[in-house]
Amino acid sequence: MTHPLGDIEELVAGRPLPILSIPEQDALREELRDVIEYRKSGLSLNWIVGCPLNCGYCVRHLFDNYEMKLPRALMTDDEAAKLLLGHRYFQPHITPIQLLNRATDPMLPRVKPHTLNMLRLLDEQQLTNHVLVITRWRIEPEDCAILNSFTNIRVTVLVTNSGIDHPAIEPVDSNVAAKSLRTAFEHAKRYRVIHYWRPIVPGLNDSDDHLRRGLELSHHAHATVFTGLFYKAQIQAYFKDHGLPEPYDEGPRRKILPEMLEGRILTAARAFGVGSPLFRKTSCAVTYAHGVADYNGHFGIRELCDICPVAQLQRCEAAWHRRSERDVDEFARQLGGQLVEINDRAIVVSGLPEPPRYLMQHSLGYQVHDVARPHQLNHHGRADLGWPTIKETQ
Ligand code: SF4
Repeated sequence: MTHPLGDIEELVAGRPLPILSIPEQDALREELRDVIEYRKSGLSLNWIVGCPLNCGYCVRHLFDNYEMKLPRALMTDDEAAKLLLGHRYFQPHITPIQLLNRATDPMLPRVKPHTLNMLRLLDEQQLTNHVLVITRWRIEPEDCAILNSFTNIRVTVLVTNSGIDHPAIEPVDSNVAAKSLRTAFEHAKRYRVIHYWRPIVPGLNDSDDHLRRGLELSHHAHATVFTGLFYKAQIQAYFKDHGLPEPYDEGPRRKILPEMLEGRILTAARAFGVGSPLFRKTSCAVTYAHGVADYNGHFGIRELCDICPVAQLQRCEAAWHRRSERDVDEFARQLGGQLVEINDRAIVVSGLPEPPRYLMQHSLGYQVHDVARPHQLNHHGRADLGWPTIKETQ
């Protein structure tokens, strides 16, 4: 089946990124060679690595890949699509997909043709899965025309904007993302647009003026997600080594958004007003924007929902079912773990790493937690840092 927009072909023609040689690929960390990772927001496909944007808090610090500035492919688009569709955890119409969210920006000029081509390849399979594309780079009206042309997949474009104006932490001018957000929202017909307001960091971008500007941008999106910083040890070390202002004294496993900061954001939203609803969780915003229930079952963590629009609450409530212990235990055992308990908030399992836990979560629409990593009440799955209770369980 040929896609109605033949010009994607033209866009791709003659411009494939060079594919890294086998020795070059061997030199990459194993996590980067493994192009599919199952994350909370879905199966993440990362067949291109390398980015010149130099965000100081980039997750590539965790993979020793920060110095690779030129994007390079690990395989062709067709090979990557085949890997994704053949992945043992991929379920047509169910598994959310994320494209190029780990080691490059999907809208960089040499990367964008591959991103759009991958969307076309998935759309041609007549899949209705959610597909998330997260960018802080440029989105042009002609990109929007292509994004609107997909008739099966549910595309969400998440435009990352932090408003951080420290040039050594975020060299790219925040106005680039602000303009992309406006363009993407103005032209959106079939796809949806999220203002991805992150990372919000005390002392860096949380002044009243920053908050007001962030809230202003919520008018140019179907939904807004606000969240904090991943400040793992490698990122902490980068901040230290480069003399950057260190926002926290420690580097926990989860994202940090102190309680007081969250309170200030919500107060500012009431004071200045918001254009699109605010969400704490990415999947909540994505699903709200498409008018469906949250695929991560956050409805069980009821305190997350106190800022959610009523119509969405009703959708999530209708879709949220507690399954029988027998069925869930069998599911967990098939994956190599076992059920500990099902409570009103989550299924608790033991012996399962993240990928099979997310498979269960996305299949059942119910939170699935590891008994060894308890979530604290009211912390919304974030680090304990900045919340007045006990320390996070590592
Ligand atoms: S109702 Fe709760 S779970 Fe559903 S989208 Fe809203 S915040 Fe998320």
